[in-house]
Amino acid sequence: MGSGGLLLSRFSLKGKTALVTGASRGLGRAMAIGLAEAGADIIGAGISDMTEVKAEAEKAGSTFYGIRADLSDRVQRSGVIQRALEEKGKIDILVNNSGIIRRAPAAEYSMEDWRAVLELNTDAVFQLSTEAGRHMLERGSGKIINIASMLSFQGGLRVPAYTASKHAIAGLTKALSNEWAGKGICVNAIAPGYMETDNTEALRMDEERNAFIQSRIPAGRWGLPEDLKGPVVFLSSDASNYVSGHILAVDGGWLNF
Ligand code: NAD
Repeated sequence: MGSGGLLLSRFSLKGKTALVTGASRGLGRAMAIGLAEAGADIIGAGISDMTEVKAEAEKAGSTFYGIRADLSDRVQRSGVIQRALEEKGKIDILVNNSGIIRRAPAAEYSMEDWRAVLELNTDAVFQLSTEAGRHMLERGSGKIINIASMLSFQGGLRVPAYTASKHAIAGLTKALSNEWAGKGICVNAIAPGYMETDNTEALRMDEERNAFIQSRIPAGRWGLPEDLKGPVVFLSSDASNYVSGHILAVDGGWLNF
């Protein structure tokens, strides 16, 4: 093997098991497929049907095991780590991707929407990370990748709960990293910019907001789910073993504009 091959082997996820929440569509689906393409076996967890992502992961030469669970439910989400471990015996990589957004002016924002967003986007991430974290601590290795947002850094408009939840994700990423980086577990986040998924359909349909957002992205386009494949594989692999507590913006340059 040449020196290039030696380096590339550090990016390989062969023999690793990755649990991806919300793998059915959008960013989670692209990341699950990216991880499969890098050699990992995939466990998907979420409320929606995972037939398509399963077929794509298998086409990439990986195995796919789906766990249907509402991660907004404390009891259901607790069963996820347990079932993943029963099925695969280990979790090397946890990608906390499931998330929702609810839009309303702050003055009219309901406590129900506030709770629903925080429950899935923040509480579930904390619970899954600590449950998987206990297993990773026992093994002395693991990678946790949380999906943050531009609204981990900025305030956004008419999405107060989402902004609060994603700021919390940035803080939680650093807090867990501080405790676990010395114990073989890297905890990082990816902060996607404005990406074309169901999550942003309302924004893209709003002509004025769409034009404003696009004109403000230095790369000149919305991001595609595939744009996350390289970053998530990097943060999941041995190539990033000295990277922890970092929030990697994958945003076409938005944050620095
Ligand atoms: P999406 O709506 O296309 O997909 C969300 C996924 O979460 C789906 O698989 C869905 O089934 C799952 N999910 C929803 N409710 C769930 C529940 N109760 N239990 C379990 N799973 C549930 O959204 P997306 O754009 O792919 O977003 C994925 C993540 O990326 C979210 O955390 C989102 O906040 C974040 N994000 C998205 C963008 C963007 O521009 N699309 C930007 C920054 C961050």
